[in-house]
Amino acid sequence: MKHYQLFIDGQWCDPASNEWFDTMNPYSGEVWAHIPRGNAQDIDRAVMAAGRALREGPWAKMTPSQRGKLMRRLGDLVAENADRLAEIEVRDNGKLLAEMGGQLRYHSEWWYYFGGLADKIEGAVVPIDKPEMMAWTTQQPVGVVAALTAWNSPLLFVAWKCAPAIAAGCTVIIKPSEFTSASTLEFVELTREAGFPDGVFNVVTGFGTETGAQLVSHPGVSKVTFTGSDAAGAAVYQAAAKTMKRVSLELGGKSPNIVFEDANLEAALAGVVSGIFAATGQTCIAGSRLLVQNSIREEFVARLIEMARTAKIGDPMLPDVNIGPITTPPQFEKVLNYISIAKAEGARCVLGGRRAAGEGLAEGLFVEPTIFVDVKNDMRIAQEEVFGPILSVIGFDTEEEAIGIGNNVVYGLAAGVWTRDVARALRMTRALEVGTVWVNTYRAVSYMMPFGGIKRSGLGRESGQAAMQDFLEHKSVWISTSDAIPGNPFVLR
Ligand code: NAD
Repeated sequence: MKHYQLFIDGQWCDPASNEWFDTMNPYSGEVWAHIPRGNAQDIDRAVMAAGRALREGPWAKMTPSQRGKLMRRLGDLVAENADRLAEIEVRDNGKLLAEMGGQLRYHSEWWYYFGGLADKIEGAVVPIDKPEMMAWTTQQPVGVVAALTAWNSPLLFVAWKCAPAIAAGCTVIIKPSEFTSASTLEFVELTREAGFPDGVFNVVTGFGTETGAQLVSHPGVSKVTFTGSDAAGAAVYQAAAKTMKRVSLELGGKSPNIVFEDANLEAALAGVVSGIFAATGQTCIAGSRLLVQNSIREEFVARLIEMARTAKIGDPMLPDVNIGPITTPPQFEKVLNYISIAKAEGARCVLGGRRAAGEGLAEGLFVEPTIFVDVKNDMRIAQEEVFGPILSVIGFDTEEEAIGIGNNVVYGLAAGVWTRDVARALRMTRALEVGTVWVNTYRAVSYMMPFGGIKRSGLGRESGQAAMQDFLEHKSVWISTSDAIPGNPFVLR
């Protein structure tokens, strides 16, 4: 049994509460580690340490190029440890080793890319309209950053949040999900090995409404970057407003995957399956609404059922398994509850719809891949995020109708469009109210490409150069080059 500690100011330490909670393997149901329950005292120590590191000491004195080098060294260490970290993530969140291994092998790219940007943060000399003045802008780190992450891809979110923050010169306190804290605690040891000074990275684990809420409301934190549900995101936004913190929110979605009759249907089938059944549907970008043109609907759904039926459910560590368990017991109950809601609303279940049973599945939180047809877009199953392997199929006739249905949800994270008609593809990319549109592909992400949502899917963008702006403040500097005394000191210069 692994017994973890908090990481504050470069040291491993016990929580002030002297309390730990269990973390469970959702495949086997076994408790495999104890996670420290951080409280307000721990948060305060971490925020103070991050503040000192930001303003005094070696991090504050380092050149941006030196910071970039440390980040690239960290990227190398993550690459060396990718397989080990991926296994820890699978043990904690039950996602496929194939998926988490891929994520961890890709993770280093965020440290390389943002490490490269660290010394390219430039200001501008402004050709100011006052001849006796010289004026320029600089960009400075926003301050101490609180990074709160969700359980589905813990270390990917650490990279998305912390790489631009660290490149900007900020210091961070990470609060991972209480369901999947282990990988972040293992990762932070690598920051020490890479040579980051004390206080630059801190990890305080604990429960969302306790430790997370304390972190978000601490006056020493300048910026909150959060990934999670829209309900918790709204609570974080409200709490942060009291001290006027900068906030980025990566929240949920109800993304449409839209298939037109002229699409490459083989590719579209694979894209729809990947959109909703990969990661057992536990992904913010799940293509949980299939919008399919009525002229091909019956045939497409029949082929989809055939393909989804062959998905192998089981041990996420095995390479031939396609669908692992649901990560947490509350989420498992939530997914089963949505299946009941959909049935009660009149949607017709044509695949799955139950807890998965069979050899090796008894201890795990497994749900069958599930497809509902006869879904109306105003049903709860079409409007609310389930975060599980549940697909709602909705037919449409025209492009306008597809756009209307696609946009008629409170979320705006992502959308997929499947068509061979380039003009239509372009029209769709403009009309869909989302942060990301994939055409003839789905679930592609990159460290270079901004990612984030509109509407109730959140605020701000992660990855790509745009992400840097979330961790920088502009400062304007004016210098008078004249000794002349202004005529009237009571008016603007
Ligand atoms: P969650 O909202 O329950 O928790 C997310 C994090 O916030 C956890 O660390 C939790 O401890 C903390 N937290 C919860 N309540 C808090 C509060 N009041 N104050 C401060 N912190 C609090 O989300 P989850 O169940 O871990 O993750 C699933 C959700 O995350 C889904 O809605 C999913 O769509 C979303 N998500 C979004 C993205 C994205 O990039 N847009 C990516 C993955 C997941």
